[in-house]
Amino acid sequence: MDNATRLQYLEAMGIDVWLPRAVADNQQTSTPVAIAENALPESTDSWEALQAEVAPCTQCDLCKTRTQTVFGSGNKNADWMIIGEGPGQHEDQQGLPFVGNAGLLLTEMLRAIGLDREEVFITNIVKCRPPANRDPKPIEIETCKPYLMRQIALLKPKIIVVLGCIAAQALLNTDEPISKLRGKIHALNDTPVVVVYHPAYLLRSMLDKRKAWADLKLALQTVKNIIG
Ligand code: URA
Repeated sequence: MDNATRLQYLEAMGIDVWLPRAVADNQQTSTPVAIAENALPESTDSWEALQAEVAPCTQCDLCKTRTQTVFGSGNKNADWMIIGEGPGQHEDQQGLPFVGNAGLLLTEMLRAIGLDREEVFITNIVKCRPPANRDPKPIEIETCKPYLMRQIALLKPKIIVVLGCIAAQALLNTDEPISKLRGKIHALNDTPVVVVYHPAYLLRSMLDKRKAWADLKLALQTVKNIIG
């Protein structure tokens, strides 16, 4: 990506290029914590076995219209796990998550907090593209979610960043609106979860870009607190 495009994405996020990447140490003490109950499976699993199981999956109707499953990509020893909603057209074609416009913005969002895309593990709630980019149906989410839970159990991330309302509600088993879910640290068993607006939404709505930046900083500070 050229510099001008990169600057445009940073601007869309409300990130001024001169902003220091270091995080102000002022948000944590009063940050509310919400707990989500969600059982993680015992991990006798392997990435290879899981990926081989996901690839030919026909457990829901999304298999009829997909080109291929999108398992996830990145570092399988990552501290950070990023979870989106589901593959779009580009992801369906390439078999990789977040490779379209929203993906470009996600890459810039990560870079803004000092993370290279290859350092994190990126996946989605559902592994197949919903036709015409509609929201995944509850039955599709429930059918696919065990794969995600197994990915979480294998990765054991220090933090999960969940992108957008649908993914956040699915992961945290709630129907709270995103306005109530963002801005706090949730817990999936003992893994902290921070909800951030979806980059596709941020590309359309400039109004929430500063909140997204604040949430990314919250996630970064949370990891720093854990790692020390
Ligand atoms: N949006 C998502 O939620 N996931 C992708 O992989 C791409 C776009």
